[in-house]
This record gives sequence, C-alpha cells and structure tokens, in this order.
Amino acid sequence: MNTQDFITRELKYGAHNYHPLPVVLSKGEGIFVWDVEGKRYFDFLSGYSALSQGHCHPKIIAALKSQADSLTLVSRAFHSDILGEFMEKASKFFGYDKLLPMNTGAEAVETALKLARRWGYDKKGVPEDKAKIVVCEDNFHGRTITIISMSTDPSSYAGFGPFTEGFIKIPYNDADALQRVISDKNIVGFLLEPIQGEAGVAVPDDGYLKRCYDICKANNVLFIADEVQSGIARTGKLLACDWEGVHPDILILGKALSGGVTPVSAVFANDEIMLTIKPGEHGSTYGGNPLACAVGIAALEVVEEEKLSENAQKMGEIFRSEMQKINHKMISQVRGKGLLNAVVTEPNGDIKAWDICLKLKEKGLIAKPTHDHIIRFTPPLVISEEQMMEAIAIIKSVFEELPKGVDKTLC
Ligand code: PLP
Repeated sequence: MNTQDFITRELKYGAHNYHPLPVVLSKGEGIFVWDVEGKRYFDFLSGYSALSQGHCHPKIIAALKSQADSLTLVSRAFHSDILGEFMEKASKFFGYDKLLPMNTGAEAVETALKLARRWGYDKKGVPEDKAKIVVCEDNFHGRTITIISMSTDPSSYAGFGPFTEGFIKIPYNDADALQRVISDKNIVGFLLEPIQGEAGVAVPDDGYLKRCYDICKANNVLFIADEVQSGIARTGKLLACDWEGVHPDILILGKALSGGVTPVSAVFANDEIMLTIKPGEHGSTYGGNPLACAVGIAALEVVEEEKLSENAQKMGEIFRSEMQKINHKMISQVRGKGLLNAVVTEPNGDIKAWDICLKLKEKGLIAKPTHDHIIRFTPPLVISEEQMMEAIAIIKSVFEELPKGVDKTLC
C-alpha cells in the first residue's frame, strides 16, 4: 500500500472530523518521524505538544513495556502498587497536595470544572446550582459538550447545542474585564490558558496572569490554569504560569504528562479543594491505570534529567530570532515562548498557510496551520541546536521560494 491507499482507507472507514496533511507516518524517533515510503520529517507539531520528550523516548517506552508485563489495569475499585508512586511524584513535582488522574485533556478540564463548582458550594457557600465560572474568548479546552459551551469559536460549538450553563465569557488578555465581572458572588473560578495554543499561540501581555491571579485572590475565586498544551517545560519553564510566579489553585495537565505515549492527564489542587469530591462522585475506568502511572513517572523524570525547560527556552529564542530574520511579506508576526511558537501569515494571492505546510512537508518538515493563517511550530523539546538550525533552513527555503509561487499541484 502507498500513501494514497492508506489515506483512502482512512477516509472510507473513519469519520471526517480532521483534515490531516497528506502524509502517512509509520515510525517516530526523537524529533523525527518517517512516512510509509521511508521519507524522514522533522516533527514540528509533536502531537499538539504531547511529544515534548520526543517520539518513542527509550526511557518512557522501557517503563511502558516493563509495566505492560506485570499489570495494566485495575480500575479504581482497587489500589495498585504504582498509583501512589505516580501521585506522589507528580504532586510534588508541581507543588500540590494531591492530584486526580484522568486520561485526556478534556476529561481533566471537566474534572477541574466539577471541582471548582463543588468547592464553590461546599466552601464558598454559593447557593445550589448557581455557580459560575469565568472563561476567556478564543479559548480551547477540548471537545465535550460542556467544554464547547465555553467556546466562542463556531467551528467548535455550532450545531452541537443545547449547551451547559454557568459560564461568563470575557476577552482574553484583559484583566480589567475580569475585574468588572468578579464581584458576582456566585463566581467560583476563572479558567484560562496561560498561552492560548489552539487560538494560534496567543501570548498575553506581561503581568496579565499575575493581575488576574490577584483579582481572583481578592475575591475568593479559584484561579484555574489549563496548561494541557503550555505546561511541562514547553514554554521554557515547568509551567507557563511560572513566568509570572503564579501558582494556580487548580492546575490542569495532560499531553506531555505521558510524553505522547498513552493518554495521561491530571488535575492538581491542595486538600481544601481536592477533598471536596468524595468517593463515588467522580472518576474514570482508565484514569490512573498502572501503564499510565509508569509512563507518567518516566515522562516527568525525562523532563528533569534532560533539562527540557532550559532547552526549550534556548531553542525557542534561536527559533524566533531566525524566523524574524525572514523578510517575506507573508509573515506578519512571529510569536511564542520557549518552543510554543507560531508564525502568523498574510494570504499571498491564493497561497495560504496550508500551502506553506505542504511545501514544508515536501522539504521534510511537518507542521499544521491553525485558524487558516497561523502556523504553529512546536517541535519536541529534545531538539538540539544543530537540528534546530537544519529545520530553520528548511522553513527559510520555503519562504524564499514563495514569491515564485507554490506548486499548486501539491495542494
Ligand atoms: N486544553 C488545552 C489547552 C488544549 O490545547 C487541549 C488540546 O489541544 C485540550 C485541553 C484537550 O485535550 P485532549 O485533546 O487531550 O482532550
């Protein structure tokens, strides 16, 4: 079977809920992936930042294999000998009393919403069913009904109503907007992405996170950070909130918590919040399963041992400064922190970000546009300087060739 055969089969038997680049991958190692025809690519998407430790990291895969030989699932009906170890490791790693394990990012966000509401009723004294949570415009927190109820992006929510109530939407990067709504005593939490990933790597102004945090503290409102994409060294610090010394009341992590190996997500909080949820009130069959625990422990060890925050910071600076040197009318902005970056493009005739991604693919680098005109560049954090320079050369060469027009037969 060739590339087209694989794609045709996927399209025939699978729902058409994604629009992938026409590349069929069959192998990954470190920052590279290979397609079914044996061609190698720099992976500059990294499973939407899940593969921060790189593809098939030997330590994480060894942990997975060894755990797979002894115990894979107990459900939370029983204890396992590795769940507590993972919980201790991860809770201490991020500075919380406890964590609640789930699988996907969306499940962790749902968990955080339930936790905030429950805390509001039990501790803050909000009347039953009146809790409200403030969220930001242009957010992306996942795809469940409740989560899309918080969305302002019609491609996420349109056609899927009716929606969950209890959300107040305010503009992102506008602490005054938070200040204006916060006096409502039924507000239990403020949920935000410290950098909005899916919105196209929207980086708020310096001081925004701290101001919002202070507003929350002054009003007995929980500051809830969704760091599913921005967390775990991606932005050059362990958490994006660390850039402003903010310690969220509720922290949501996923993706890189498993190094892209198996779904692992978690919500972190201190006892006052976490213990408001009692046995039988929340959970998941697979959340905290032994495989996930083994993988999660190894994934965090890799972040520490390989100093991934430091590398993300250093490589990110090189990336942005080299991108800024590209003098092309299609590039309107280069933005990001650490290795969570994006190039914002202007359409050039009928050449769009998607066409640039196809050109990049032809030259051996895969990345994906978000919102039509923004290309996110988020390689694994294990990338070396030499590899980064090689990847940058590919990106530069694509832009250099653009004025002559792209090869539309690729589109
Ligand atoms: N939160 C953020 C900030 C995300 O970027 C994502 C996914 O991209 C999610 C939540 C949802 O994660 P998942 O796709 O694992 O459900």
